[in-house]
Amino acid sequence: MSVELREKKRFKTRSEAGTLAMGERVAEMLLPVPKMFVLRGDLGAGKTTLVKGIAAALGAAEMEDVTSPTFTLLHEYKGKKVRLFHLDLYRLETERELMTLGLEEMAEEPDALILVEWGEKFPSVVERADGEILIEHAGGDERMFYVRVKG
Ligand code: ADP
Ligand code: MG
Repeated sequence: MSVELREKKRFKTRSEAGTLAMGERVAEMLLPVPKMFVLRGDLGAGKTTLVKGIAAALGAAEMEDVTSPTFTLLHEYKGKKVRLFHLDLYRLETERELMTLGLEEMAEEPDALILVEWGEKFPSVVERADGEILIEHAGGDERMFYVRVKG
């Protein structure tokens, strides 16, 4: 089954700082909550960096307080209007392990914005997601971002 992804916007950044700043513009596109998005791209593409920018834009966390949940799998940041759940499923292997994370419960929170790195590994996550942000290396420090929303 294929789902149509409507491309909402594409961006290019030329530095880490550029991606952090762009978080503000991207954050607007992910609202209103509740929503879930897959962040797709190679290691070092800039997925975690983008989440830092988004968290700051939403007033959920200071950029420097957002770290990669590679080992913890899940970090939660509470903003005024949005509860940001940042997941990294790189180390998860089975749907069974995924179940123990409680993604279903998170998705039921009315103020949840769920951003899932490596979510594309799991069909159940892709199916549930409202869209994806694809990040591609574009040479050196350049990155392309494609924000795609279902529908
Ligand atoms: P991921 O979570 O996709 O593995 P990270 O955000 O953790 O990636 O790391 C991105 C790396 O790439 C960082 O070391 C960052 O400094 C570097 N980088 C270089 N250019 C950019 C850019 N334009 N946007 C984001 N990160 C960049
Ligand atoms: Mg990461």
